[in-house]
Amino acid sequence: MVTAFKIVLAGNPNSGKTTIFNGLTGARQHVGNYPGVTVEKIVGSFRVDDCRIEVTDLPGTYSLTANSPEELIARNVIITEKPEVVVNIIDASNLERNLFLTLQFMELGVPMVLVLNMIDNARDNGIEIDTARLSRLFGAPVVCTVGSKGQGIAELKKVIAGLVQSGRKSVPKKVEYADELMLPVRELSRILTGSGEIPEGYDAAWLAIKLFEKDKEIVELFASGPGGRAVLDQADALMERLESEFDEPSEILVTEHRYGFIAGTCREIVRPTLRKRRDISEAVDSIVTHRILGIPLFLGLMYGVFYLTFAVGDPFMGWIEAGFGGLGNFVSSWWPPGSENALKSLLVDGIIAGVGGVIVFLPNIIFLFLAIAILEATGYMARVAFIMDRLMNKIGLHGKSFIPMLIGFGCSVPAIMATRTLSLRRDRMTTMLVVPLMSCGARVPIYALIIPAFFPARWEAAVMWSVYIIGIIAAVICAKLLRSTLFRGENEPFVLELPPYRIPTVKSVCLHMWERSLLYLQKAGTLILAASVILWIMTNYPQKKNLSRNYAAEIAAVEQSRLKAEPKTAAIKALRGKKMAEELSYTCAGRIGHALEPVLRPMGFDWKIGTALIGAFAAKEVFVAQLGIVYAVGETDESETLRKKLQENYTALQAYCIMLFCLLSAPCMATIAVTRRESNSWFWALFQLAGLTVLAYIVTAIVYQTGLLFSGAV
Ligand code: GDP
Ligand code: MG
Repeated sequence: MVTAFKIVLAGNPNSGKTTIFNGLTGARQHVGNYPGVTVEKIVGSFRVDDCRIEVTDLPGTYSLTANSPEELIARNVIITEKPEVVVNIIDASNLERNLFLTLQFMELGVPMVLVLNMIDNARDNGIEIDTARLSRLFGAPVVCTVGSKGQGIAELKKVIAGLVQSGRKSVPKKVEYADELMLPVRELSRILTGSGEIPEGYDAAWLAIKLFEKDKEIVELFASGPGGRAVLDQADALMERLESEFDEPSEILVTEHRYGFIAGTCREIVRPTLRKRRDISEAVDSIVTHRILGIPLFLGLMYGVFYLTFAVGDPFMGWIEAGFGGLGNFVSSWWPPGSENALKSLLVDGIIAGVGGVIVFLPNIIFLFLAIAILEATGYMARVAFIMDRLMNKIGLHGKSFIPMLIGFGCSVPAIMATRTLSLRRDRMTTMLVVPLMSCGARVPIYALIIPAFFPARWEAAVMWSVYIIGIIAAVICAKLLRSTLFRGENEPFVLELPPYRIPTVKSVCLHMWERSLLYLQKAGTLILAASVILWIMTNYPQKKNLSRNYAAEIAAVEQSRLKAEPKTAAIKALRGKKMAEELSYTCAGRIGHALEPVLRPMGFDWKIGTALIGAFAAKEVFVAQLGIVYAVGETDESETLRKKLQENYTALQAYCIMLFCLLSAPCMATIAVTRRESNSWFWALFQLAGLTVLAYIVTAIVYQTGLLFSGAV
C-alpha cells in the first residue's frame, strides 16, 4: 500500500529551490498557476519505500508578510494546506539574509527541515557552519546540499521520509525574542485568545507578531470579524506604547529583533575560516564578545558603574539623611521635654528612622538603574550575557543569570527583580533562590563592625574577601544542587539575541529607571514601614515596670556630683545603657533572644546575638543597631565602644561565625517579599527563607565546632 504525503519547498529567490526540486522529483512535474494570480505553481513527486511524497515548489520570498502576491501565497499554502513538512532551502553563503525567512517559519510553528544549500559557495567564501549546533538551537534537522551537483539529495530524501513516516510533527523550537518585544506580544496574544476572534488554524502569538508588523491581511482578517474592531484597538494601544518607548515603528522593532536573533545564531554557528569584510557593529562585537578580552572589559565597565553609582549618589544620600533627621527633630518638637510618650517614640525611633534608613539608599538605586538601563538600551547587556554564558553553563545556569547575581552584591531586591529577563522558569527560580548568597551592601556594616575588632589590620581585607568568596561558592553549590534536583532539565542551548547597537532614547531609559525605582519606594512605603512598627513594638514591649535599680535616681545623683564634665557624661551614658539593656532583655525581642539561646549555642551565639539577629531579619543593617542596644552603648555610631564590648565577650572564632551566619542566613524581609511576588508563590519564598537559614545554621555550626576542636588542640 502506498501512502501519500504533501510537503513544500520554501526559500529565498535564487536559493536553489528549483534545482533541489528537480533533484528530488526528477522529470515528474506539473506546472500550473495558483488560482487567480499568475504565480507559477510547480508540483512533482518522489517515492521513498512505500511513501509517495508530493512536493510543491513555493514561490521564492524573503519574508512572510503580505507585501506581495508571492509572500501571501507562500504563507497561505503553509497555513491552510498544512503540509507535512516545510523544506526550507537556505543559501548557506548568504546565511543572515536567508535565516530571516527561516525565523518566520519558526514563528509559524510548522514542522521543518533546514537545507543548507550552496554549501560549496559558503566554503569558498571562507565560512564553516556548525550544523549540529544549528540543529540543536532551532530544533529542526539540518541537511547540507550542493544542489547543482546533486550532493546531499539522497540524504535529504531520507530525512524527509523519516519525518513523514514517523508521523511525529517535529515542530522547531519557539522563537523567543527579548522581553521588550515578547512582553507586549504575549499580552496581545492573551487579548486575542480571550476575544474568541482567532480564525481556525491560526496561532495567537503569531497573529500578535503580525499585528505588530502591521500586516494588512491580518488586520483585515480581524476588521471583518464581529468583535474585531475592539481587538484591533487594543492592539493599537499596545503598539503605540511600544513605539513611543523605543521611538521607532513597531514593524521595524520586530525586524530588528529578528536580525538580533540571527546575529546571535551566526555568532554561535559560523566560524569564519577566512578573513572577511566586517561592518562596524561586527567589529565592535568581535571585541566585546571576545573570549578573553570580553570579561575584563565587562568587569572594568561594571566597576565604573558601581563607582559612579556611589560617587554620584553620595551627596544626595547626605541630603536625604539630613532631611529625615530634620523631620525626626520636627516631629520630636511636638512633645515638649518631659512629655515624651510612646507615640513619639514610635514615630521618631520606629517609623521615621526605619523608613528613612531605607530611603537613604534611593539615590544609589536610581543611579545604578540608570546606568543599567543605558547599558541595556545600547545593546551591550545582551553581549554580556553572551560572554558569561559559557561560564554560567558550567554551574547549570543561563548566561543571563549573571546580571542578577552581580546586582545581588548591591541588593537582593533589585537582583531578584532582574531575573525577569530569564525566560525558562527553572533558570529563573534557581537564580532567584541563590541570589541572596551574594553578599549584599547591607551586610557591609556588620563586617565593618566586626572585622577590625577581631582581626589584625593586615588580615582585614583577606577576611572580608573570604566572606564574599564563601557566599559565591555557596551560591554555585546551591545552584548546582537545585538544578540537579528540584529544577532538573537539560541545559538546552538557545539563541541569545545580539540586538543592533543603538543610541538609547532618553524616554525609554528614564521609563525603565523610574519603574524600578518606584518598586523600591513601594517597598519602603509598605514593607519597611510595617517592619519598623513591628520591630519597634518588639524591642519596646512588654515594658518592665520595676527595674532592678533606680536608674533615674542614680543618674540624678551623678548629675549632682562634683565629677568633671567628661567622666560625668560617660557615667550617665553607662547608666542609661545599662537601663536600656535591662529593659530590652524584658521585651519581646529580648525574650525571643533568650528562648533561642539553646538553639544558637552550637554556633557559639548567645541571647544577645539572637536578639540582634531578629533585627537583621527586618534589614541586615539593623543587626549593628540592635547589637548596640543589647550591649547598651547607647548611640550606635560609637563603634569603638561596641567593638570593645564585643572583644570582651567573644572570640575571633565566634565573631567570624557571626559574619558567616549573617552572610548565609535568612535573607531580609524585603527579599522574601520580592521573591514571593516574582515567583508568584509563598511556597518558594518560604523555601528560600527556610533553606538558607538551615544552610547557614549547618555551615556555621560546623565551622564553629571544628574551630573549637582546633583551638582546643592548640
Ligand atoms: P531558485 O530561484 O531558488 O529556484 O534557484 P534555482 O534552483 O533556479 O538556482 C539558482 C542558481 O543557483 C542556478 O544557477 C543553480 O544552478 C545554482 N545552484 C543551485 N544549487 C547550487 C549549489 O548548491 N551550489 C552552487 N554553486 N550553485 C547552485
Ligand atoms: Mg525557481
